[in-house]
Amino acid sequence: MTTQTPTVTCCHCGKPVTYHYDEVNHRQHLWLTIFTLGLWAPMWLFDIVSKIKICDVCGKPTKE
Ligand SMILES: [Zn+2]
Repeated sequence: MTTQTPTVTCCHCGKPVTYHYDEVNHRQHLWLTIFTLGLWAPMWLFDIVSKIKICDVCGKPTKE
């Protein structure tokens, strides 16, 4: 029995790579929400629920 590291195929590297999730920049979202008088809030929520996989090799999102 071996423990497999979860991998995803990166569209930039073109091979299976390990990944991590992008951290949500809450401070920036808060600013944008205040600046747009709350119009940005749905984008903030969208960013929280749609976790983007970041390639550990090239540091870019694994999908475009
Ligand atoms: Zn990559």
